[in-house]
Amino acid sequence: MVHRVTELLGDGIGPELCEAVHHVAEALPTEVRFEQVDLSLEERKRRGRGVYDEAYESVRSAGAAIKYPTVTEIESPNAVLRKRCNFTVIHRPVMTLPGVKSNFTGKVDLEIVRLAIGGTYQDPGQQVGPDVAVSLRIVERSTVQSAAVYAFALARRLGTHVTSSSKWTIQRATDGLFEEAVRDVAKRYPDVPHRQELFDALLAKICMRPDDFRVIILLNEYGDFLSDMASGLVGSLGIAASGSFSFTTDGRVDLAMFDAAHGTAPDIAGKGVANPTAILLAFAQLLSHVGETAIGQALRRTILGQLAAGRSTRDLGGTLTTMEFTREVRGAFLDRIRAVATA
Ligand code: ATP
Repeated sequence: MVHRVTELLGDGIGPELCEAVHHVAEALPTEVRFEQVDLSLEERKRRGRGVYDEAYESVRSAGAAIKYPTVTEIESPNAVLRKRCNFTVIHRPVMTLPGVKSNFTGKVDLEIVRLAIGGTYQDPGQQVGPDVAVSLRIVERSTVQSAAVYAFALARRLGTHVTSSSKWTIQRATDGLFEEAVRDVAKRYPDVPHRQELFDALLAKICMRPDDFRVIILLNEYGDFLSDMASGLVGSLGIAASGSFSFTTDGRVDLAMFDAAHGTAPDIAGKGVANPTAILLAFAQLLSHVGETAIGQALRRTILGQLAAGRSTRDLGGTLTTMEFTREVRGAFLDRIRAVATA
């Protein structure tokens, strides 16, 4: 099986991360054929909008992409791609990373499914007279439904439940519509339990009993807040990866793009010390998305296993370079899949 994947090249530590992804990709028991589009600042300056046309055409034709960090100078490539590809949902897994220092002792394993548009983030608001300002809060049923189908399908694959969270008792119209749309989708997944939590209570409960939560679906700003809080609980904003998705009119995933949460890290670019954990986790998420769930899960477990064993790059207190860590991951991954094959 050959999987065509668009590879959106970036700036700073981007090339080093790209090398790490290819090193692991070469060891997979399935073929990934990368189609590169160079989104580095230099190319964006040279080619203007044309480079985004090429990126969009490639993502549209391949269906899935991995993106490396890019510098935001004039435009934010992430914002342009989000608009171009109509990415309306972001899926961010946040889990306790063994070996990564954290002040929180509970074990977190969350799949945060967040609407990437609407809520209060779409409207910049306006001043009404000198002392009052207002902003619009936008919730669209169709976007919520797509996100909910994604969340319930994910929970079914993981054999777990879905929690939807908002402030429906206060924002009755908008959050009420959100919860109603999620409940409608939940009826189509009778085998996947659905619970609702008020957002403020959810934050407290995650801190008290993180094990009670797995897949959580939220509106734009709540998802933003929860992603950061959860990343803080596990001790790092920098190691997270996420997937961005667009949907067909009948709610199926159309395009998907996977990337690391951190930026281009210009201070360490070119030194070979960048931590490839986030981009490799993004790659694992991509593999699961294109149907290679077992391989994607195995890669994710391997990465976590290496961190648990104390193998890490400088930023996590270790001594390994980018490629030393990557080689460890590749070696352990090969051992893992060989062990499964001979079991
Ligand atoms: P950008 O403008 O691209 O967002 P930034 O420097 O503002 O860049 P990050 O790139 O996220 O933001 O970097 C913040 C800090 O975290 C820097 O000190 C950087 O070296 C470090 N950092 C970010 N990503 C990594 C990584 N993958 N490995 C090691 N350190 C990293």
